[in-house]
Amino acid sequence: MPALNYRGRAHPHLEAKIPTLEDADNLGQFVRIGCQHCKTFRFYRPNDIRILIGENIHVLHLRDKFRCEECGSKEHMAVEFKTMMANEIPGLVVRELVETRWVKKPVWRDRKL
Ligand SMILES: [Zn+2]
Repeated sequence: MPALNYRGRAHPHLEAKIPTLEDADNLGQFVRIGCQHCKTFRFYRPNDIRILIGENIHVLHLRDKFRCEECGSKEHMAVEFKTMMANEIPGLVVRELVETRWVKKPVWRDRKL
């Protein structure tokens, strides 16, 4: 596993060994995403994240894709693939993707005539 300060510049051969969302899905793992600053963590299904992002990226590239819902920062986000023990699964709250909506966001500028 590359160091935590990894920024996506590994040799392609090493890059191919880093687990992807598809790998996690095949292993029945969950994606644990959270903010280390706010101490809020949630569990997601790897396939939901893949649908949302639109590509099968590996775990170390995922960190930059999320922003904390509490503090709004990306800086303290931690993402890992987690294998849950059978006794940890009952009662586990998983955030499931219901739908994705396209939001219309106006962009304005003031123009002097
Ligand atoms: Zn936060």
